[in-house]
Amino acid sequence: MTTDGKDEARALAAFIDASPSPFHACATAAAKLDGAGYGRLRENERWALTPGSYYVVRGGSLVAWTIPSAAQAAGGFRILGAHTDSPNLRIKPRPDVKSAGIRQLGVEIYGGVLLNSWLNRDLGLSGRVWVRDDGPTERREHLFRIDRPLLCVPQLAIHLNREIKTDGLRLDAQQHMAPMWGTGRGDERGFLDVVGAEIDVAPDEIISWDAMCHDLAPSSLLGTGEEFLAAPRLDNLCSCHCSLEALTADDAASRTHVSVVSLFDHEEVGSGSASGARGPLLGDVIERIVLSLGGDREDYHCAIAESICVSADMAHATHPNYVEVHEPNHHLAINGGPVIKLNANQSYATESETEAVFQRACEAADVPYQKWVNRTDLACGSTIGPATAARLGVRTVDVGNPQLSMHSAREICGSHDPGFLVRAMTRFLD
Ligand code: ZN
Repeated sequence: MTTDGKDEARALAAFIDASPSPFHACATAAAKLDGAGYGRLRENERWALTPGSYYVVRGGSLVAWTIPSAAQAAGGFRILGAHTDSPNLRIKPRPDVKSAGIRQLGVEIYGGVLLNSWLNRDLGLSGRVWVRDDGPTERREHLFRIDRPLLCVPQLAIHLNREIKTDGLRLDAQQHMAPMWGTGRGDERGFLDVVGAEIDVAPDEIISWDAMCHDLAPSSLLGTGEEFLAAPRLDNLCSCHCSLEALTADDAASRTHVSVVSLFDHEEVGSGSASGARGPLLGDVIERIVLSLGGDREDYHCAIAESICVSADMAHATHPNYVEVHEPNHHLAINGGPVIKLNANQSYATESETEAVFQRACEAADVPYQKWVNRTDLACGSTIGPATAARLGVRTVDVGNPQLSMHSAREICGSHDPGFLVRAMTRFLD
């Protein structure tokens, strides 16, 4: 084991490379939790929880928690939140198309994709499919991932696009982003044939899917001193990974309140879904834990009032080539530690009280921290923090590690920052 401060970045790289879709992120997290002795629960069964560690999965979302033996029904929760989804290209329901003799897949754009970043890359395919089972509405879920170079979105040559020099690159989501995967000479297989072969199921047994493209270049440390981590989906698998590391840390046994990690799907498209942060998932789990501990609805409200949530999502490090787009007095440094995000207009849920809580956790963990606001003349992004805060009424702080190239197919963060965030989160849970 090395001690150069980058071990957590290497562990994060492995987590990301194992998790090309939100469903795989949940499966990777579940495997880690299984290994740490967490019991998997089903939402459609009654829970009788004793002190211990548990998790549930709903679609591309996962909630895990630890109940210490000293837990009280109204004692409150320490919550870490993050999101499992990233902007990408999603396969349409009738995907097989052909243009100029080239076989392609029709794609929808999921979330705020930097379209240029998907050009000229070797792409794989992953997600889940539903397969027919016995009975009129019965179906089985299969996760699949194809890590061979299968797809590519070729960019138009500069000779055929002279305007690129004056107008910049213009990409139309409908016209220009369909990846290609063959010419039909000897291989006319369509989407169902390829995926069916991968999961060993006849094509006509596949009913429906959530399928998406992923960049095949593996995550890697980068730079003369390997101070950067280049990887896909840092937004927001970085925060997912760090939250799970903190929850399962060695000193978890000494905690006195219930600690929770909530990883949501659909943040990149507004969180409004049954498994998203605007849905009832986290509130349902919290209520069921309170009831399981012998509490009632009154205890639930006491517990909510006692709880604090750290909502973790990535932040915009100051870009060396675009310094002017950043707020001059709130620059963010790569490897400068986790960022506390503030916005007076509540695009972030941070309040001065929760800001103080997280700052103290950083100080106690001996971790540097940074504070960020957007330029006043630029519209501010948002995340799951305001969604869960508004839904549950839990006091929340929005934090996250600094990164560059956000929403690109390949992003960059600091190789020291994941370790900093894990230490700060671990102290927060303690
Ligand atoms: Zn994000």
